[in-house]
Amino acid sequence: MRAAVFLSPHHLTLTERPRPEASAEDDVLVEVEACGICGTDLHVLEDPPGHPGTPGVTMGHEFVGRVVEIGGAVRRVSAGDRVVIQANMQCNACEMCAEGYFNQCERMTTNGIFRDGGLAEFAVIPERGVHPIPDHLPAEVAALIEPLSCVVHGVRLLGLTPGEDAIVLGAGPIGLLFTAVFAANGARSITCVELSPERAALAHRMGATQVLTPGEYRERGRQAQVVVDAVGMLLPAAIDAARPGGRIALFGMNSQVAPPVKQFDITRKELTVIGTYVGSSSYPQAIALLDSGRLDLSPMITSVLPLEQTNEGLDRLRAGTEVKVIVQPRL
Ligand SMILES: [Zn+2]
Ligand SMILES: [Zn+2]
Repeated sequence: MRAAVFLSPHHLTLTERPRPEASAEDDVLVEVEACGICGTDLHVLEDPPGHPGTPGVTMGHEFVGRVVEIGGAVRRVSAGDRVVIQANMQCNACEMCAEGYFNQCERMTTNGIFRDGGLAEFAVIPERGVHPIPDHLPAEVAALIEPLSCVVHGVRLLGLTPGEDAIVLGAGPIGLLFTAVFAANGARSITCVELSPERAALAHRMGATQVLTPGEYRERGRQAQVVVDAVGMLLPAAIDAARPGGRIALFGMNSQVAPPVKQFDITRKELTVIGTYVGSSSYPQAIALLDSGRLDLSPMITSVLPLEQTNEGLDRLRAGTEVKVIVQPRL
């Protein structure tokens, strides 16, 4: 089969690999329909890497496909079922897993980063990493379930209730997904703070009531009960944007930055600052939300490419001319 493999920095190597088999009892062999490329993939491919990754793996951690073959102990899915694959897989055996904090698993592994993923014609995933999805969802939209599950987890931690005002800092894929989910949750207003006019237009389509540049926000932006940093280094701006008693979710991640924080304001305004890391038990809810038809995520998908053009997709993402690139191996 054809696969896009991480061998050296900056690009993926398109190569032939033996088609994997469901050789373990809990293995599920999936024929990949669509796989999203994400910012994390770009970080893995940087030199030096901005995110760890195992050389030699087939990349791609946001994917959906159809079950072709199952191991003898698999119960939740059968051949022919359509599934989304969990990006991060817990061990189900460590202390954190025992306490239900699956996203804090001490032996967590990630498909497409530390073990083979979905930028290939086929992938083998243990049963605990697959979730059934409805047949009617277009494959390229269903490939967004992985990032959506992370955002659903974040919104759950934030506890946004109808009628609240929200501010989303950064309208990249994650900021746009927060915007869409807040809109579906009945937020009164959603202000996105974003520099790019293309992304601003998308934010409006996803349900933003207002999109301001950072400069415009400083001039005339209002505070909100709920603030999301979808970039990973904007805590100081998020503290300013939060109303007294407000909640801030820190979603984006950047281990290289340490912004100066005015702790006084957190205390004085009684703010709650929440870290939200990947997803945890949030796939079923993300699937149900997409199934409901309340979210139209299709405007976020700016390109659908065949596997052979994966590197082109990576280049365009680096250049900032794309929001979400989806690869379809069978295209
Ligand atoms: Zn991702
Ligand atoms: Zn564990």
